[in-house]
Amino acid sequence: MGKITGFMEYERKVEPYAPVEERLKNYREFTKPLPEKALKEQGARCMDCGIPFCHSGCPLGNLIPDFNDAVYRGKWDKAAEILHATNNFPEFTGRLCPAPCEEACVLGINEDPVSIENIEKSIAETAFEKGWVQALPPAERTGKKVAVVGSGPAGLAAAQQLNRAGHLVTVFERDEKPGGLLRFGIPDFKMEKHVIDRRLEILEAEGIEFRCGVHVGKDIKAPQLREEFDAIVLCGGATVRRPLPIPGADLKGVVQAMDFLAQNNRRVAGSSFEGEAISAKNKKVVVIGGGDTGSDCIGTSFRQGAESVANFEILSKPPGSRPEDQPWPFWPMRLRTSSSHKEGAERYFSISTKEFKGDEKGNLKSLVTVEVEWENIPGQRPKLVELKGTEKEWPCDLALLALGFTGSESTLADQLGLEMDPRTNIKAPVSDYQTNVPGVFAAGDQRRGQSLIVWAISEGRQAAHYVDTYLMGSSELPLKGEGDLPRV
Ligand SMILES: Cc1cc2nc3c(=O)[nH]c(=O)nc-3n(C[C@H](O)[C@H](O)[C@H](O)COP(=O)(O)OP(=O)(O)OC[C@H]3O[C@@H](n4cnc5c(N)ncnc54)[C@H](O)[C@@H]3O)c2cc1C
Ligand code: SF4
Repeated sequence: MGKITGFMEYERKVEPYAPVEERLKNYREFTKPLPEKALKEQGARCMDCGIPFCHSGCPLGNLIPDFNDAVYRGKWDKAAEILHATNNFPEFTGRLCPAPCEEACVLGINEDPVSIENIEKSIAETAFEKGWVQALPPAERTGKKVAVVGSGPAGLAAAQQLNRAGHLVTVFERDEKPGGLLRFGIPDFKMEKHVIDRRLEILEAEGIEFRCGVHVGKDIKAPQLREEFDAIVLCGGATVRRPLPIPGADLKGVVQAMDFLAQNNRRVAGSSFEGEAISAKNKKVVVIGGGDTGSDCIGTSFRQGAESVANFEILSKPPGSRPEDQPWPFWPMRLRTSSSHKEGAERYFSISTKEFKGDEKGNLKSLVTVEVEWENIPGQRPKLVELKGTEKEWPCDLALLALGFTGSESTLADQLGLEMDPRTNIKAPVSDYQTNVPGVFAAGDQRRGQSLIVWAISEGRQAAHYVDTYLMGSSELPLKGEGDLPRV
């Protein structure tokens, strides 16, 4: 695998970013691809480590040492084949995945890990550039009809796999365009939307039908879908936003992150949007919540011309390196600094927002916080303790609530009689992704709760296998770790 001595000869390199002042002028992606020589060297760093832990670090089971080796040898077509065998959309994960594979890389025990994610993106981009990503409609149709509800990464992956098995797949999407959070949550500076569109063209050419602007449960009742389709896969995401029920939460200027991000993504796309325009221009912005959503709010606020952006996180500041109780190859809870954080946000940890204050016209003017500590009590969840005398008032005229999502909407579950789990996700065990109603399956964030794109694709693929088995008695669609060659 790779070059036997590559890991001793070459250091890790990752795609550099355009300077902050340059990238803040627009919403374009700002990473600069590595030249081919550097990519080959990165491929060469992959060691013949015997047991590639990166495989199990990746929720898709991507065959990482194999595509690293192909890149090192300049066999990009082979690398693209290997990558697409396990991942329907490496152009999404190559840009957006937090790369748990790199945390599990054996080289990462005492060196910087292989730049797996950058290699993945370069393979995917080369495959599109060279025209290797072609529509591959199935040779035969089974006559079975499957409805996929939701067109995020889980729905798209399930749809492509089921279409490959010969079923007639219709994807229902309530938004005006497919893509889910890839299109309306994640800003263009992390992934430009033509990246989704070119993949959608392939899916449509393969025979998948997209019905956008159709809200299942409202425009079509779920039982009607049951009558018209042989199976249903629910991939509607975890869309119920966590509120912040504190005094002043109804002031003008206290905004849910997804309202802010979705509106801006539509603005960047030149599309119309509903509701009043929200802008961070010349505002003192506070983003409450330190995850991906919060980070995307920071980058968007800077691009809109915010005067300042502060980011509050209720959890304590994690350590800069892997904590001892989270050993390799596990995903460590360590401080992560996103490209948006680096654009100038002030970050505050162990801080809880207690109240929003406004003027006589109901406009947000400030917010009040208190510092907190997390008390560890054996056998119980950590307890939040507010520290007396640490109250502080911060000037603020736009507060963006990026507190995550509490679970799935219940409309379809109610209409179909589906069980939900205690975390209000749709209950469908990983043994077959089937709900308590035969023929109704669930995958992605709607099943596992808010998660990652790589998990959504993985779940869509897994669910497709079990839907195919339900319809046909058995399935040749691969499960995790069983890539199917060739796909490009
Ligand atoms: C702002 C933000 C940034 C993120 N950044 C990253 C990142 O950088 N990397 C990463 O790995 N993950 C990231 N995530 C998480 C990631 O986007 C999700 O885990 C992933 O998109 C989940 O995919 P999904 O297909 O399950 O659901 P979604 O992407 O949420 O798609 C669900 C789709 O279903 C549609 N839908 C729902 N109900 C219905 C209905 N009844 N009828 C018709 N359509 C319906 C919705 O409109 C939506 O289009 C981010 C999340 C957010 C919110
Ligand atoms: S999808 Fe994510 S975890 Fe898997 S190989 Fe790519 S970057 Fe790594």
